[in-house]
Amino acid sequence: MSEESYLFYQSRNPRPFLDRGEGIYLFDESGKRYIDGSSGAMVSNIGHSNPRVLEKIKAQMDRATFGYRLHFRTHPSEDLAAKTVAMTPDGLDRVFFVSGGSEAVESAVKLARQYALTQGQSDRYKVISRFPSYHGCTFGALDLTGYDPLREPFAPMLEGMPKIAAPATYLDRDNLSEEARGLKYAELLRDKILAEGPDSVLAFLMEPVGGASTGALVAPDSYYGRIREICDEFGVLLIYDEVMTGAGRTGKFLAAEHWGITPDIVVLSKGFGAGYVPLGAVVAGKRLVEPILDAGGFAHGFTYAGNPLACAAGLAVLEELEDQNLIANAATMGVVLMDELRALMDRYPFIGDVRGKGLLTAFELVSDRDTMEPLEPRLNAYDRLVELAYERGLIIYSRRTRGGTAGDHFLIAPPLIITEAQIAELMSILRDSLDAFAAEVGLPLEV
Ligand code: PMP
Repeated sequence: MSEESYLFYQSRNPRPFLDRGEGIYLFDESGKRYIDGSSGAMVSNIGHSNPRVLEKIKAQMDRATFGYRLHFRTHPSEDLAAKTVAMTPDGLDRVFFVSGGSEAVESAVKLARQYALTQGQSDRYKVISRFPSYHGCTFGALDLTGYDPLREPFAPMLEGMPKIAAPATYLDRDNLSEEARGLKYAELLRDKILAEGPDSVLAFLMEPVGGASTGALVAPDSYYGRIREICDEFGVLLIYDEVMTGAGRTGKFLAAEHWGITPDIVVLSKGFGAGYVPLGAVVAGKRLVEPILDAGGFAHGFTYAGNPLACAAGLAVLEELEDQNLIANAATMGVVLMDELRALMDRYPFIGDVRGKGLLTAFELVSDRDTMEPLEPRLNAYDRLVELAYERGLIIYSRRTRGGTAGDHFLIAPPLIITEAQIAELMSILRDSLDAFAAEVGLPLEV
């Protein structure tokens, strides 16, 4: 290892050097093997070093790595757009490429705004989102993000777009049915639109299954349809941030399909490039896009957008999802994983909740399952459990945040190629890590 690092990220980086990846595994330079239990940051959906994808990337590299989109059309970008449209629900038939999730969110919001202008609705500019949520770290996307530790340093520089509470029903102790709870949270959107003034509201942005900020938060079924109705009632565009959930992660190509919802705009990234290249996309209906093109075009674009190398990789990733039937595997293995995680609650009374959809799953640690009181912050559970798992060769992902007060939740989101035997292997390391954590901080086990 070199003595000094010239890089800086969130903090100093004490991690070992990555050597190589293979399937669901990563290896560091000492040869130690890790199960990539979170696909990095829910990125590596088809696993590491897929030889067919690498082959297709190399073939494109030999032809051309870059051709500026205003100078040439390219087959990889046209083909990837066509494939994306074919894989998404009807009504989502125009695609705009970007290089990442934050860029995709920014682009979706600007698309919504330009569409409103073509409709003579220049007063519409507010984008309502949820708290907690994560939508990216560029200024526009950060303003839509409901996650204080990332917002606070920049608070004076943010517009302060309106937020409603995310449907963290697992914390509710009322006597409502799940359906009624879903509707209760959806009504928060209606109330907020009325409070802000319906003519000023441009869009509502939501993660259909919460990601980093909420830990795989799934709303009651009733929520999704009601949100769609409320948006329609006020002419507010519904944007689904499927950066984490898209490209098969939840067992459907889009999580929206679980509830039969067609959002007006969908954003994709992470699993869409699956860690092979930086790639993201905005997918919208031509109903929105055509008026913008007629009015002179979308006043927006990034230099690297739609470059043929990234698009060839993205196309290869989608082909792999199809050829290996990985979306169906995510659905099947998601059930296996969820059952295994639920079973942990028998041994670990400090696991308060297990949730998720497909292979986007999470569990949350609490000091009391009945009250859902979080663990004491001084235990640093979100950090310590990740470290204990890492030492044992398992990578999991965590953040300290939740609906009300902060809680420690952990995302388990392995590549969609995972097998039942590999889930058993992952769970065995996870149980060892939970045992070690309980022993370290003196939490009781159920025996
Ligand atoms: N939206 C969601 C739902 C995300 O999970 C993320 C990344 N964690 C982003 C947007 C931002 O993506 P990126 O980091 O690629 O800019």
